[in-house]
Amino acid sequence: MIQIAIDGPSGAGKSTVAKALAKKLGIVYVDTGALYRTIGYAAVSRGISTKDAVAMQALLSDIQIDVKYEDGIQCVYLNGENLGDRIRRPEISMAASDVSAIPAVRAFLLDTQRDIARRNSVVMDGRDIGTVILPDADVKIFMVASAEARAARRTKELEEKGMPASYEDVLREMKERDAQDSGRAIAPAIPAPDAIHLDNSGMSVEESVQAVIDLIAPHLHKL
Ligand code: C5P
Repeated sequence: MIQIAIDGPSGAGKSTVAKALAKKLGIVYVDTGALYRTIGYAAVSRGISTKDAVAMQALLSDIQIDVKYEDGIQCVYLNGENLGDRIRRPEISMAASDVSAIPAVRAFLLDTQRDIARRNSVVMDGRDIGTVILPDADVKIFMVASAEARAARRTKELEEKGMPASYEDVLREMKERDAQDSGRAIAPAIPAPDAIHLDNSGMSVEESVQAVIDLIAPHLHKL
């Protein structure tokens, strides 16, 4: 069994690289951002303020989140409903960032994440995987890229998903979200002391995947 943790800011290419890596190694890819997005979506759709810790606590006692793998793709269910790409909308990104700063929300999702890693070899991406969720991960990577490179990638991704947004709006929202994620009191999005930094600003997807493969090569016998 192997645990590979990939943390870093939004748009650094974590999910693209982690997905490709999981496929190549035949292990499970866990997108933890999708869990926070699902809770953010639940709050927005019920008109609950995403910064109201008391209201969020009440919401948590009323929802169930399940993670299933269908044809190798992670699907997150909210009270039995697969939300699909609805959790990718830009307003849900900020809602996810808001709710993820609430300790009860992080506690609510902790076991779900650890359980998947207990039962499977995983490559898990997020903000606190190396620091909080899997502190004993075999390899921890903190993936970064310039804000401009990240915003350009995210703009393209949103367009491909049929949710176009301007580069300027994406860049502004991304900077705001990163500042909130890295500055929060609980599980801030910062590298674990033993994380390896990978700046992939000038790299193609293939080059980023290869760079990660090179970093994990000494651990592959654990598979
Ligand atoms: O990775 P993604 O952009 O989908 O994550 C959405 C939000 O969820 C992030 O901006 C962050 O606030 C939160 N998050 C988190 N911890 C994780 C994964 C995501 O706080 N492990």
